[in-house]
Amino acid sequence: MGDKLEKLREMLGEVADISHASALLGWDQQTYMPPGGAKDRAFQLATLNSLAHSKFVSDEMGSALDAASQEIEGADLDSDEARLIKKTRHDYDKQSRVPTTWVAEFSRTGALAHPEWEKARAEADFSIFQPSLEKLIALRREYVEFFAPYDHVYDPLLDDFEPGIKTTEVKAVFDALRPRQVELIQAISEDGAPVDDSVVRQNYDVQKQWDFGVEVITALGYDFEHGRQDKSVHPFTTSFGIGDVRITTRFIPDFLNTSLFGSMHEAGHGMYEQGINPELGRTPLADGASLAIHESQSRMWENLVGRSRPFWKAFFPRLQSYFPELLDNVDLETFYRAINKVQRSFIRVDADEATYNLHIMLRFELEIALIEGSLSVADLPEAWNSKFEEFMGLIPPDDAKGVLQDIHWSFGGFGYFSTYALGNLVASQLWEKIVSDIPNMNEKIESADFKDLLQWLRENIYQHGAKYEPIELLKRVTGKELDYEPYMDYLETKFKEVYQL
Ligand code: ZN
Repeated sequence: MGDKLEKLREMLGEVADISHASALLGWDQQTYMPPGGAKDRAFQLATLNSLAHSKFVSDEMGSALDAASQEIEGADLDSDEARLIKKTRHDYDKQSRVPTTWVAEFSRTGALAHPEWEKARAEADFSIFQPSLEKLIALRREYVEFFAPYDHVYDPLLDDFEPGIKTTEVKAVFDALRPRQVELIQAISEDGAPVDDSVVRQNYDVQKQWDFGVEVITALGYDFEHGRQDKSVHPFTTSFGIGDVRITTRFIPDFLNTSLFGSMHEAGHGMYEQGINPELGRTPLADGASLAIHESQSRMWENLVGRSRPFWKAFFPRLQSYFPELLDNVDLETFYRAINKVQRSFIRVDADEATYNLHIMLRFELEIALIEGSLSVADLPEAWNSKFEEFMGLIPPDDAKGVLQDIHWSFGGFGYFSTYALGNLVASQLWEKIVSDIPNMNEKIESADFKDLLQWLRENIYQHGAKYEPIELLKRVTGKELDYEPYMDYLETKFKEVYQL
């Protein structure tokens, strides 16, 4: 490595250190911080985030970036060095357009909005959160203008999470996918054999749920030497460096799925970050390729592995040993069908695989309307409820089960939701390739052997971090563009079997 590149890496390392310190405070905010800490924490986060931002967009960084670019001229375009320059250039050009004062204001507003959202959600009263959300939307509308001209006002937000993907492309995929999903859900509800999920809705001791969850994610390959699990209201994964990637989960005593599949989901995110090539540490490449690629990893472990019959052939006897009084008289098939019950329901994070994307499409449309300004924050709860009825045939009984359920808007996270649905599509595309590359994948899962799968993911996805843009990575691995057919095939095959259609 030349002097100039080394200098750039040192400077990027300092920015990464500050960002990781901020992430640690953010983790604490959602796990252990007492409510009284919120105000001071808001200032601390704003200070660190604006410090990281101003260091990153400084003239000094710009010069270091130019010098390092010249130094590596002629290098292999796929090398870590060339990719580091490319990614840093993309982020630098983007973040340089955002004034540091905006970053501080946004960070402070988000940190203060969060407890308001928690309160509003606890009391199922949107009006408590409305003023904060209005401020956040105003700030986000200011933000997109830093990137004018754009094709679509939502593009700059989407690009923060899915580099290279446009709003119109996502819209086209969703428009094509939605009728297919609705048709499947319709067939299930009208002609499907009834599925009884009372077995997962018994009273499951929380400590035993925790212990079983830890056993499962350890078997999958989540590394507790380089991470830990805690509880939070809304489960998440956060990284303070490749050697310390933490996850959280939450428990509902009378619904087993929440923590079990939540833990597998977050462990999927965690394993991705733990598997990044350590050489990329403390640089902008020490990250996932995008949120959709990230989500493809969490959803793959949660659903394609964790909600499969082979998986439960291995783990149902283990689960029975934790809860003999609840499960000794239950057979594997009843349990398998129960965890795969399809039901139109209010809460996105508890949604089954068949209805999940509809929750996302609804948020995608509402976010676009809010950012465009065609929908006011005051009218949001009503818009949510009427769209929910249109998509799902249900009206939420209150705002907590409707517009207030997700954490994302509480910190101004707009542009984020569509990545969840895109992640489902990518997971199925990757899975097609995985089962063709790894012989007897199902037999391996049946014997709780995830080594080859984890190895494949490390080699093809994890190690690269953010070296490649999402679609580029997908094409490198599968040879194909983003495609929803493998996902629909998977859903139709699986649920037609579960529901005997
Ligand atoms: Zn996720």
